[in-house]
Amino acid sequence: MFDLKDLYQEVIVDHNRSPRNFGKLDDADYRAEGFNPLCGDRLNLYLKMDDDRIQDISFDGSGCAISVASASLMTEALKGKTRDEAEKVFHEFHDLVMDKKQGDMESLEHLGKLAALLGVKEYPARVKCATLCWHTMHSALEGYTTPVTTE
Ligand code: ZN
Repeated sequence: MFDLKDLYQEVIVDHNRSPRNFGKLDDADYRAEGFNPLCGDRLNLYLKMDDDRIQDISFDGSGCAISVASASLMTEALKGKTRDEAEKVFHEFHDLVMDKKQGDMESLEHLGKLAALLGVKEYPARVKCATLCWHTMHSALEGYTTPVTTE
């Protein structure tokens, strides 16, 4: 039988094992650093903009499977998006993972593979692992220079 949970699990394992867009962007326009002291996840996020559009996005650092898979999935989802579109995905994902909003089929479809991370809702401590990269991305886009921490 088709099991959504297994599929989601597979996506996370795959993105943790071979993260997409991993590595430094030397000609990045924005850079931000994120740290989740609760788990020890650390990441750097790099953004290269073409006007208002994210032309390239990458990350490096080290952390648990959830934080790495989340960053990998995020970079995949945001490449080519405009600033506004990226913020929209951020809020949609954030509201669902923080349980501020019930996920319906439409929002899950919107999120695509990012929906794989929604399982962390059951584990409040892991939510920070999954959202760290998003807060870091947000801060990078805003051009903040102080490191992001989840505390
Ligand atoms: Zn973590």
